[in-house]
Amino acid sequence: MLEYRDELVRAVMMGGKARLLAVTARDSVSELARVHALSPTMTVAGGRWLICGIFAGADLKGETDAVNVTVQCDGPVEALTTVCDYGNRVRQSVLHPHLELPEGENYRDLSALFGKGMMRVTRTQGEMRPWMGTCDLLSGNAGDDFAYYLTTSEQVNSFVSLSVEIDRGGVVAAGGLLVQALPGCEEEDLDYLEVRAQGMPPLSFFLREGFTAAQLIELFAGRSAVEYLATEQVAYSCPCSRSRMSRNLIALGREQLSELAADPEGIELVCWFCQTRYKFSRAEVSELLAAR
Ligand SMILES: [Zn+2]
Repeated sequence: MLEYRDELVRAVMMGGKARLLAVTARDSVSELARVHALSPTMTVAGGRWLICGIFAGADLKGETDAVNVTVQCDGPVEALTTVCDYGNRVRQSVLHPHLELPEGENYRDLSALFGKGMMRVTRTQGEMRPWMGTCDLLSGNAGDDFAYYLTTSEQVNSFVSLSVEIDRGGVVAAGGLLVQALPGCEEEDLDYLEVRAQGMPPLSFFLREGFTAAQLIELFAGRSAVEYLATEQVAYSCPCSRSRMSRNLIALGREQLSELAADPEGIELVCWFCQTRYKFSRAEVSELLAAR
């Protein structure tokens, strides 16, 4: 089997009038599926949004910055929250990990699982007030939703293609490509990008063939000159810890904490993003209460 390591490659083309981000995410999507014990359907659904989260996180500038991509919908998925920290460290919470498509449907179109809904992107950057943008969901299939969001809400012409490929053994390949017009991109440049985007074959085949992120970029750029800017690591990663969980408990407030401290069994908290369990005995909860 091929040795994969998830990566994000940044590049520009047309002398800097367009930027390209390509991601390979097999290990990250596998880890997402593992920690939440996702059904095959939800591995594809969640994995696609995980890749969008990595794209959204690629613009973060500071080490404590983070972006949150939340989907809320009236379909069975109900909600998916993807968080990406600086350094392409991504994680996701999934409300309904075991959903399956109705018999006879294929993974290409998962819109039946999402129904109507909206997506929201929130960026927390340093001391600045969090920045937020929203738009309606087109389908829930992630790639077209995210491109629509970037083009309408952030007003940057964007093309997104992504894919999560699975078989009985799990995630075979996953990755995506984001192309954006930058300032200075004239009408004819946009037309050219449009033609390239329309001629772009689905990524599924190329990801299964083991294409690297840089090769996905070449696939889009064709004969256009590409300037590669950086190659970065991507990983599924959750920063939760016992001390963070303690702080969350303290933040509940005296009344609720007193109630919890009354339980002789103590309490167990489960991280929504990595399913790590944190057990606090009755004595420990009482200590937190006293420390308030
Ligand atoms: Zn966690």
